[in-house]
Amino acid sequence: MFTIFRLWLLEKYAKKYDIPIMQKDGIQFLTNFIKDNNIKNILEIGTAIGYSAIKMALVDNNINIVSIERDEDRYNKAVKNVKKFKLNDRIRLIKDDAFNVELNDKFDLIFIDAAKAQSIKFFNKFEKNLNKNKYIITDNLKFHGLVESDEILSKNLRQLVKKIKDYIQFLKENNNYETTFYNIGDGISVSKKR
Ligand code: SAH
Ligand code: MG
Repeated sequence: MFTIFRLWLLEKYAKKYDIPIMQKDGIQFLTNFIKDNNIKNILEIGTAIGYSAIKMALVDNNINIVSIERDEDRYNKAVKNVKKFKLNDRIRLIKDDAFNVELNDKFDLIFIDAAKAQSIKFFNKFEKNLNKNKYIITDNLKFHGLVESDEILSKNLRQLVKKIKDYIQFLKENNNYETTFYNIGDGISVSKKR
């Protein structure tokens, strides 16, 4: 009961301060996926305030997570939140730009949810940390519907949308992985390493 209330407080906080945490159906999909595929070790790129990391860790007591966040305020908030849920022994938070982080650990799931224009780079940097037959999941492939819209966009947004489309193409053409795209939440891909 306390847990549900605390999660609700996190969702409220994120809404109030415009922190782009995973949408309800997206996080539901992700946590079900973790349960159904017996995922135990997770690397997350983009912690924000710790919401998705906490949700993932709550799926099962044997789940361990490493999560990276470059923004100091969000990282600090995440540290506090993880402690509130008493998950600090299972969620390791790293305050750095993911591009500066070198990990030797191997994971069953890499969850990419950081700067949307950089997904190809995150994928290429961290795939060496993925166990065989395991998964890379990416969030926000629809980018609030902008990826498929005819709306006239600013130059910055156009560039961002192009990068997301490039990433989708990259996944489709990557024969080392089998990728499925889901029209859930803000658009999610699941890439299984062959
Ligand atoms: N996964 C979170 C939401 C993450 S929002 C949830 O659903 O609860 C995306 C976060 O990625 C932002 O807080 C942003 O600061 C962080 N980020 C973006 N680029 C990054 C990078 N290169 N390294 C580390 N963090 C990054
Ligand atoms: Mg997201």
